[in-house]
Amino acid sequence: MAFLHQESTCFVQVIPLAAGAKLDDGLTYRVPDHLMEAMAEGCLVRIPLRNCSELGVVEKFDDAAPLDFKPKLVTEIVHPFPIITAELMKLARWIARYYACRLDQVYEMMLPAAVRRGMAPRVTVLVQPGKVKPSKEDLDTLKRRAPKQAKLLSFVRDQIQPVPKVPLLKRLKIGVSSYRSLVAKGWLEELFQTVQRDGYADALGEEAEEIQQGGFELSPDQERVVEEHRQALDSGAFSVRLLHGVTGSGKTEVYLKAAEKVLAEGGSVLFLVPEIALAPQTVARLRSRLKAQGLEAVAWHSHLADGERFDAWRAVVTGACRVVVGARSAIFAPLRDLRLIIVDEEHEPAYKQEETPRYQGRDLAVFRASLNNALCVLGSATPSMETLYNVEQGKYGVDEMKKRIIDRPLPTIHIVDMRMEVLKAKGSTGISRILADGLIDRLEKKEQSILFLNRRGFSSALQCLDCGWFAESPNSSISMTYHQADEVLRCHLSGVEQPVPQRCPQCGSTQMRKRGFGTQRIEASVKALLPRAQVVRMDADTMSKKNLYRSILNDFRRGRIDVLIGTQMIAKGLDFPNVTLVGLIDADLSMHMPDFRATERTFQLLVQVAGRAGRGDAAGEVIAQTFAPHAGPLLFARQNDFEGFYAEELEQRKEFLYPPYRHLVRHIFRGRNEDKVSFYIDKWVTFAEANMQIPVEVRGPAPAPILKIRDTYRYQVWFFAPQAMPLVRELRRLRASFPLDPEVTDVMDVDPMNLS
Ligand code: ADP
Ligand code: ZN
Repeated sequence: MAFLHQESTCFVQVIPLAAGAKLDDGLTYRVPDHLMEAMAEGCLVRIPLRNCSELGVVEKFDDAAPLDFKPKLVTEIVHPFPIITAELMKLARWIARYYACRLDQVYEMMLPAAVRRGMAPRVTVLVQPGKVKPSKEDLDTLKRRAPKQAKLLSFVRDQIQPVPKVPLLKRLKIGVSSYRSLVAKGWLEELFQTVQRDGYADALGEEAEEIQQGGFELSPDQERVVEEHRQALDSGAFSVRLLHGVTGSGKTEVYLKAAEKVLAEGGSVLFLVPEIALAPQTVARLRSRLKAQGLEAVAWHSHLADGERFDAWRAVVTGACRVVVGARSAIFAPLRDLRLIIVDEEHEPAYKQEETPRYQGRDLAVFRASLNNALCVLGSATPSMETLYNVEQGKYGVDEMKKRIIDRPLPTIHIVDMRMEVLKAKGSTGISRILADGLIDRLEKKEQSILFLNRRGFSSALQCLDCGWFAESPNSSISMTYHQADEVLRCHLSGVEQPVPQRCPQCGSTQMRKRGFGTQRIEASVKALLPRAQVVRMDADTMSKKNLYRSILNDFRRGRIDVLIGTQMIAKGLDFPNVTLVGLIDADLSMHMPDFRATERTFQLLVQVAGRAGRGDAAGEVIAQTFAPHAGPLLFARQNDFEGFYAEELEQRKEFLYPPYRHLVRHIFRGRNEDKVSFYIDKWVTFAEANMQIPVEVRGPAPAPILKIRDTYRYQVWFFAPQAMPLVRELRRLRASFPLDPEVTDVMDVDPMNLS
């Protein structure tokens, strides 16, 4: 035994990132001597696992060797520093517990793919004169024997600064071998410079220069809120403040002031927006303001290429960059000394991730702020019920800005009863008389209009007038949408396309009718109404082309478009001063969803959409078409009565003990065999109810509102409890001892936003 090499006595627990590993706990490995010094919690390491080499994150050190087996050795440390900071590690553990997922899934999500693969930064090579100086004779010989090398050398020596290698060789038309021999002699020297790929370059562009630099005086409202934020920041304690400011009240300016303060004091700032492509103006304004102070904001969103994402991550993790602007995934940016997190449009469902780990970015922002004793600002014109409830409970502070900047009036909202319109017009084009007049009027005045309709396609459905047959998606239980441009029926869930039948497949009748209105049909109506106007439609169908979105918005800003028609993707964040009319084609579309948030969504949509009108000097007008003119959310929105709406809505939620009064876990079972799915969810619910050790209300099981997506059947059960964490713990404990058929899968969605 004396011959044996002394083995190190240091052990670590590693969470393997291998997709197939599926381990809830870490595995123990031994740290070889030569890695002892660099080893730290949060390091990315390579480990042997089941005869393969895998990557893993070091979760913690273990003092003693395990008794029952002999641990294998860690092979390598991939990056020479912890890639998961101690703080993000805490966040990861919390996510795994709260959102019912495994730690490795959280780590996978936190780390850009390129980091997990151990990618290196991109480097440019610069060339400068070398340390070895050629003599006069050397130069003469070179001129005779290798004129190209001589030319290259003299060119470089004439430059004041190092020159980039690739363009240099290209320009002088000189081959790499000539270059290499000069470097080999030491007459030329190479410098390596890491390059930052810019994640905004693509998402944004010319907007940046057009954005005004601010420089105006703060309004009294803004002044007051800025002061509140200043105090919260100076206290150095964790706090959350809702900024409830009407559309156009100047929230962005307030965010900027807080950010500037933190950056000036050496801290870092995280700025979340629901979807980076939908907030180009906010992002551009932020960036140009920071630039004026010599700071670069890093973009962080899912559309970044691997290299860009890696560079963003690296800039942040090394501390080179202290501001991150991004969509929900930016909540995982490894910023140090984080003192301010801003969540713009905090009510947006886009903050919720709809795949595992199904986290809510806004809630993580609050939690992460608490880990850092930071200030979290939640901003919105239409805050979520969850946030308002937390304000009511005294957990969050609140600042209100009830007036628009320079006392611009909020737009007037007209409600048009479409039932009357349909009677009068004997059938309808989808555009009421009053909306048509409004559009004509704006065109004459050279003002701009926006029309919203949250339904793509030409009309919502195709129906047989004789037998009532409906074109339904073959693999998802929703109706197919008729698209006129390419003459197809398309399923918006699965993307399946079918030709438009000439005869009813059920009874052979030719009496086929298009029902409802889609954006395409509205576009056709508006073009017929205003033949000389520039009308452009913007929705997910036209937006598939890269950058089209940006160029349309630029055209609109420059006044080259009179009427912009779109789905809710254009409802938020846009600030166009010349828009004076906003039309809502079908204001109650969102009201009939099988979702307890349907009313809230309708109200928010109306207020946000209205918020696009009258942001310049001319007052704005909103025309909301509806078949339910007396519905609560419409009336409250028309009166701008936020308090009234929230009071009534909270009352409703309280009556049924819906969120925010309790937490909800939506447990979904899926499979291709409907009988099996329904059998197993029944069995599970019976089992869970019998063994549950905490008080929980169970609703269901029942088929999900969209029963079938891509041939997969979906059933769901709802579990309600006062707190999420104990409920999740209990459900996972029970689920671990419940055997499920291999053809059925299940997923828990904690605090779900999407109930379909
Ligand atoms: P919100 O996000 O609250 O809807 P914005 O931050 O987009 O509002 O501001 C609305 C408009 O008012 C923007 O064009 C902005 O440049 C401008 N603005 C903001 N603050 C002021 C101010 N103090 N004086 C003049 N204009 C302002
Ligand atoms: Zn028929």
